[in-house]
Amino acid sequence: MTSQETFVVIGAGQAGGRAVETMRAEGFDGRIVLVGAEAHVPYERPPLSKRLLISDDEEPARTYIHGREFYREKDIDLRLGVQATHIDRDARRVTLSDGGSLDYSKLLLTTGSKVRRLSIPGSGLAGIHYLRDIEESLAIRGDLTADAALVIVGGGYIGLEVAAAARIRGCRVTIIEMEDVVMNRVVAPEIGRFFAAVHRAEGVDIRTGERVAGFEGEGRVTGVLGVGGTRYAADVVVVGVGIAAETSLAEAAGLTVANGIVVDEFGETSDPDIFAAGDVANQPSPVDGGRLRLESWQNAQNQAIAVARVMCGTRTPHAETPWFWSDQYDLNLQMTGLASGWDRLVYRGDPADRKFTVFYMTGDRVVMANAVNAPRDLRYARMLIETAAPVEDAALADPAVPLKSLLPAG
Ligand SMILES: Cc1cc2nc3c(=O)[nH]c(=O)nc-3n(C[C@H](O)[C@H](O)[C@H](O)COP(=O)(O)OP(=O)(O)OC[C@H]3O[C@@H](n4cnc5c(N)ncnc54)[C@H](O)[C@@H]3O)c2cc1C
Repeated sequence: MTSQETFVVIGAGQAGGRAVETMRAEGFDGRIVLVGAEAHVPYERPPLSKRLLISDDEEPARTYIHGREFYREKDIDLRLGVQATHIDRDARRVTLSDGGSLDYSKLLLTTGSKVRRLSIPGSGLAGIHYLRDIEESLAIRGDLTADAALVIVGGGYIGLEVAAAARIRGCRVTIIEMEDVVMNRVVAPEIGRFFAAVHRAEGVDIRTGERVAGFEGEGRVTGVLGVGGTRYAADVVVVGVGIAAETSLAEAAGLTVANGIVVDEFGETSDPDIFAAGDVANQPSPVDGGRLRLESWQNAQNQAIAVARVMCGTRTPHAETPWFWSDQYDLNLQMTGLASGWDRLVYRGDPADRKFTVFYMTGDRVVMANAVNAPRDLRYARMLIETAAPVEDAALADPAVPLKSLLPAG
């Protein structure tokens, strides 16, 4: 070891995991400590609402990025099941829930997101679940027995993925969504309606424009009450009403926080020795010059890698067009770009075929795209967004015109 520095990373999720492996790959040979509140080595969460939920045979360890051996080999000190409770910026010291403390040269915060919890009558009853970690996914799976009545509160992508998994497992499924259309936050209403139709055809009862007033049951949930008085029978409930950045440590330490920990394009916070990446980071937007906080696999991985490199001395700014996906039944939805400021949609392919792409247009530019079972289209859509190439609607809509041919030469 030649470096006397210690890099401490708080949050052993996907971003934290990718950051520590990158530090070693970059040749940093000082001390690395990864502190994680969960008992698991860093893992990827997307399977938690997909294959882990669908199949009883699926092992949680398959979501691990690396096994424990990897961290031993790389001499990365894992402190799992341990919470970081305080950051003393003057002393450059982190206090831990196990009574210990860690001195750092540089600190990376990858504390991710926490789910929004309902606080309404009956919300403490057994059988009401949230979904963020492996234990919660397994608990839901255990309750999704054939013919069980599942009520899902929230028609976002988590709610819809859980609905698909539950239908595959033979449950009776109701979704309660307060907006008029599902997946309202991430896609155009037309695409939300397409997915709602798919779910209804699979037998899911979707109640849009409905709000939950409370839960009923003696000890365990037996019903969900809508604000208008409708009662939905429930053996199990999953609440998916969004997440918030886990910024409590950063706020208490006096870092600048505004919908996430505010960072620059290098992942630097308002303290030059402290960095942030992943769901918790509010970063400059590469798309519209504003700021954004992304809750996505791609960002958790690539921003963490970029920031770890900065910490190791390679100062390359992180800027990437957002990309996200969701799997429901036989449908793979991929999204790229940002859903702000579009004036019309252009379809390539027919939704009835369950394979199509939708381009969100501003003037003659593509600003976002959704591809359903059409991953190749999405790749080119992303290039169209990044190059801001002017395109004609007719060419985009014509499957005979290769999207590649619409990109600027070179
Ligand atoms: C069910 C589910 C399905 C998803 N599906 C998709 C998908 O299909 N596509 C997609 O792009 N994205 C998906 N995502 C989002 C993606 O998984 C997240 O964006 C990603 O996990 C963010 O990684 P992160 O490391 O920033 O944060 P997290 O994964 O939230 O990890 C943060 C970690 O920090 C720990 N922590 C927090 N505070 C402390 C502290 N004080 N001390 C110690 N440890 C602490 C937490 O316990 C947690 O383990 C999904 C997420 C979920 C939950």
